[in-house]
Amino acid sequence: MKALTRPGALALALMTIIGGCTVSSESSDPPAEEMYQISTLSALAAGGYDGLIDMDELLDQGDFGLGTFDHLDGEMIVYDGVVYRVPANGVPEEVDGDVTTPFAAVTPWDPEREHEFSDPLSCSDLEAAIDGLLDSVDEPYALKVEGRFTSLTTRSEERQEPPYIPLADVLENQIVFDLGEVDAILVGFRLPDYMANSNAAGFHFHALADDNASGGHVLDCQTAGEISVEIDEIDSWQVDLHSDD
Ligand SMILES: [Zn+2]
Repeated sequence: MKALTRPGALALALMTIIGGCTVSSESSDPPAEEMYQISTLSALAAGGYDGLIDMDELLDQGDFGLGTFDHLDGEMIVYDGVVYRVPANGVPEEVDGDVTTPFAAVTPWDPEREHEFSDPLSCSDLEAAIDGLLDSVDEPYALKVEGRFTSLTTRSEERQEPPYIPLADVLENQIVFDLGEVDAILVGFRLPDYMANSNAAGFHFHALADDNASGGHVLDCQTAGEISVEIDEIDSWQVDLHSDD
């Protein structure tokens, strides 16, 4: 992994890059404000779809986050310590602990702030409004958005088989779901530009409907009115390259 440049004012207290399985054998709790990720988005984008760690190991690092699965088999939502998969049929399912992931990011959910928006907002307006709540867009945050949507558009993709093709080529045939009017949570992150390629810069949300009947990677949304946003600041970032396997 290439070295990352960080703005001088950045509040990331620690960035740890580790290799191998050392993390999963630890039983101690992860730091509350740490985001852990397995592999990098650039490795996934290049077709690195083989699972590296399992859900039990991932949940040791945090109970909230998102990612994908071995063979790029669906969109991952980690919420309240439960891992959900939204596969190509669009119907969420709970995932067993021995299922593996090639790329995921989690943090212990420990929000510092909550804000209620009352006006209907498009996804882009909501994101701009969230930016207005943040101390700095040069710092990473985990975010939970909860409420009613008049429209919510998501995607998933077909499970891939080797030889893998790049993610951009897979997503040319992404499967788009129109969830319609739905009560849902959005689980995600708002990451600064300097974390691009290692992870996704800007906003990245995965949705799970309250009835667990639909979800996926969020492409667009429109909130109905009352919507809550909870903000969990992240001050350290652990990138597990799993490089000794
Ligand atoms: Zn996604």
